[in-house]
Amino acid sequence: MSLAEADCLFCKIVAGDVPSLAVYETGTMYAFRDINPQAETHVLVVPRQHYEDAAVLAAEAPDLLADVLLAGADVARQEGIEESGYRFVFNTGPDAGRTVFHAHLHVLGGEQLGLFGRPHRTG
Ligand code: AMP
Ligand code: ZN
Repeated sequence: MSLAEADCLFCKIVAGDVPSLAVYETGTMYAFRDINPQAETHVLVVPRQHYEDAAVLAAEAPDLLADVLLAGADVARQEGIEESGYRFVFNTGPDAGRTVFHAHLHVLGGEQLGLFGRPHRTG
């Protein structure tokens, strides 16, 4: 195990060392509820294997990246938001507010979502 993996929150969640609310599991994929939901439905889909981000995953294991998207669609179906609609998000870097460096797909929906891409304003 690399240093990055030993210190990775989502590797610990996949291993069951940090608790999470599972919604979907396969041999290669794990999906669980975001602890700080940004929509009525907010699920994170992560490959069990550690990849730093979506671009690294695309370069090193393109089939697994496709599986992440298929798992996201399965999650949307399971959560009952397939028809109402949902958003897939991959954050990268500080401007996107990225905090966990294990590739993960956000699945957001369950209500009308706000605009995205605008600067975050306080006050
Ligand atoms: P990102 O900002 O794209 O790196 O997304 C990381 C996401 O992980 C955020 O939406 C956090 O709310 C979420 N998160 C952090 N810790 C946990 C946890 N222990 N269980 C579930 N979700 C978490
Ligand atoms: Zn990891």
